[in-house]
Amino acid sequence: MNKIPMNKIVEMDGDEMTRILWKMIKDELLAPFVELNTEYYDLGLPERDRTDDRITVEAANAIKKYRVGVKCATITPNAQRVEEYKLKEMWKSPNGTIRAILDGTVFRTPIITESIKPYVKTWKKPITIARHAYGDIYKCTEFRVPGPGKAELVFTGENGESFRETVYDFECAGVLQGQYNKDSSIESFARSCFNYAIDAREDLWFSTKDTISKQYDQTFKLIFADIYEKEYRQKFEELGIEYFYTLIDDAVARVIRSEGGFIWACKNYDGDVMSDMVSTAFGSLAMMTSVLVSPDGNYEYEAAHGTITRHYYKHLKGEQTSSNPIATIFAWTGALRKRGELDGNAPLMEFADKLEKACLDVIEDGVMTGDLALLCERGDIRKVNSNDFLAAIRAKLEQSM
Ligand code: NAP
Ligand code: MG
Repeated sequence: MNKIPMNKIVEMDGDEMTRILWKMIKDELLAPFVELNTEYYDLGLPERDRTDDRITVEAANAIKKYRVGVKCATITPNAQRVEEYKLKEMWKSPNGTIRAILDGTVFRTPIITESIKPYVKTWKKPITIARHAYGDIYKCTEFRVPGPGKAELVFTGENGESFRETVYDFECAGVLQGQYNKDSSIESFARSCFNYAIDAREDLWFSTKDTISKQYDQTFKLIFADIYEKEYRQKFEELGIEYFYTLIDDAVARVIRSEGGFIWACKNYDGDVMSDMVSTAFGSLAMMTSVLVSPDGNYEYEAAHGTITRHYYKHLKGEQTSSNPIATIFAWTGALRKRGELDGNAPLMEFADKLEKACLDVIEDGVMTGDLALLCERGDIRKVNSNDFLAAIRAKLEQSM
């Protein structure tokens, strides 16, 4: 069989159990069918430490060059990891570094199968959460107010003009917080969301609390509305998709009653909270993909879960593990399909579709990893280890090629 040719994408290897799965996926499911063409960056913790984390910055810059990247889960070091890996420093989160360089928005989408039913009965299609990963309470200044006194909000401009307003005249102890966001970041967020909706051909919902926050949240609402009217309305209408703004409390109620099949854009805190709710309600973190989209159209795909440390330690002891490779496989198919789209490479896009279908068909046959077996209500299932699961997917894929 002739292998499918492709243009280059950026490949970022990672850590622990997902690093093991990464190699298995490449060997079993990709390399036999595709002329894999990647620029390889090892973001495994030892290599980040050896290069003083320069490798992460180089990988992010390479994504800007090739426009598409795929990333394995990586360890974000804490004190215990510094000890375990004898690190020179407690290196920053690679995802944070890459996000800062690409200035992107993170979209998380569940992978849905017939065998695993969402907790919300009406949900038939995936709900994608787009989280604005910048500012608000994640960059706030706050303190305990020790006792009676006046709290003020002051802004001093470059030219000396200033605003001053009383927040509260405290008659007792309490708490105080100041937060901010930037128009430029909100604009990037809006464009990433509109572009993603166009790519996915799905409606875009956006929600804030602008009735209560008449300046702060109102600004988010106005920036979205303005960019939509000027840059995106026509394209949305051509595709028959909708941009829809509503209050966050109304959005929550509508999401629960919906069938799914849309993108829900959220401010930073709302996105943090709602993405955990949505992923749990759909089933499992191991069935959740994640893509970072920059406003100028660069894409980085990954699984939403971590390096599955607990399974890795078992693997090191020579025990079999039943780690679920689906989200990592879908990170690859997402990247290959995007590469195909950008280059008009139809065979590559078809391959991505076939590989995803093979994964879902194997699960529909009742063959699954332990995490899914726990969630599945069917009686006729066979729980397998990662090796056997990949072999079953390979067999399905071969039938369809
Ligand atoms: P985790 O790797 O997501 O795993 C937490 C637990 O969830 C696992 O122990 C396992 O449960 C289950 N699980 C997650 N993915 C699974 C899969 N594919 N198949 C089967 N079960 C799965 O989170 P963590 O243990 O909190 O973090 C481990 C490391 O990952 C940390 O060093 C963290 O920094 C890193 N991390 C990286 C990313 C990223 O690169 N995007 C994201 C999050 C965390 P059972 O043990 O019950 O089977
Ligand atoms: Mg969270």
